[in-house]
Amino acid sequence: MIFLAIIYLDNNASTKVDPRVLETMLPFFSEHYANPSNIFHIGGEAASSAIDHAKDVIAEFFGITDSNRIFFTSGATESNNLAIRGVIEASEKKRKHIITSNIEHDSVLSICKYYERHGTSVTYVAADSNGFISPSSVEAAVCDDTVLISIMAANNEIGTIQPIDEVSRVALKHNIPFHCDATQYISLGTLDLTQTQIDLLTFSAHKIYGAKGVGGLYVNRNKVKLTPLILGGHQQFGIRSGTYNTPGIIGMAEAIRIIANEGKEENQRIGRLRNYLLKAISSELNVIVNGSMKNRIPSNLNITIPGVPAIALAAATPNVMFSFGSACSASNNEASHVLRAIRISPELSRCSIRLSLGRFSTEEDINIAAVAITNSAKAIIKRK
Ligand code: PMP
Repeated sequence: MIFLAIIYLDNNASTKVDPRVLETMLPFFSEHYANPSNIFHIGGEAASSAIDHAKDVIAEFFGITDSNRIFFTSGATESNNLAIRGVIEASEKKRKHIITSNIEHDSVLSICKYYERHGTSVTYVAADSNGFISPSSVEAAVCDDTVLISIMAANNEIGTIQPIDEVSRVALKHNIPFHCDATQYISLGTLDLTQTQIDLLTFSAHKIYGAKGVGGLYVNRNKVKLTPLILGGHQQFGIRSGTYNTPGIIGMAEAIRIIANEGKEENQRIGRLRNYLLKAISSELNVIVNGSMKNRIPSNLNITIPGVPAIALAAATPNVMFSFGSACSASNNEASHVLRAIRISPELSRCSIRLSLGRFSTEEDINIAAVAITNSAKAIIKRK
């Protein structure tokens, strides 16, 4: 019997929980399980002070002093909903307008589409063929009715890092709240809100080696008024009611602490491996890289292998886990809106795959994956 090594190259979709993160979480399942809102007994008090500490760690990562600007959610999808819906619902303007881009995550685009049907106008700033949006296009779209600018920090399909510093300056100049979906970006280990003036910032634990089902939203409470999505308890100043996911939150803070300390070096290593993977595949096959290789998160590689449908490649390479389109949209089998936005034809789009590396990727993994993908692709081409 032959045992195939299974290689995980889908870290932009979700990451393995780091053992150090898991270790910090475990006592909050088995020992400090009391409800953190019940601070009148020692169990609740222990859980509550651990959450306060987690907020401090996360606030420090973002360079902010007021940890009460950090809100916990069930993940980036909810954070995006709370940010965008929260601002629209709270706005007293008669006519409302949002600026976003055509390469945002589906969770942002779906909210915009929903509000478009309910009278809000939306400008979808177009990315260029390298996968970048331009701050001047954002500025050109600003009007008196604009209530929010929402631009992601790094794209989840092609990894391109957006010029959020410049976009934040546009927002500041026009006194418009700026929401940034930084879900894929914070793995870089740095995002200083004293340098980049972001008013609403989305993040999620499971992209940075934390657990699924927990994320956060930074809210500049001086500038932004949010209407809550979830009504209920009094938790988190009523902005996000519901019992805290204590283990998830504690783990997310530890995940953030690790990337703050190790992110820089880790990303250099991941970037080298990613480039090596590209070289290994492209030395054997005709490959098109989607999105610029400059200003791109080091974990991400998105390539088209003409003549090799991604579905066929995935079926022929069961020992390598990768995705085509983003994980969230892969199941509906539509051409990716991001690849379409950067002018990749539907035909080439169907031959595109996303290989995403992470903390636990090794050189051996990359060698095995490169050989497996190359052999499968060659066999598919030969069959035609
Ligand atoms: N935004 C971006 C950029 C993402 O990559 C993802 C995850 N694919 C999300 C939002 C949604 O994150 P979550 O799974 O935490 O809801």
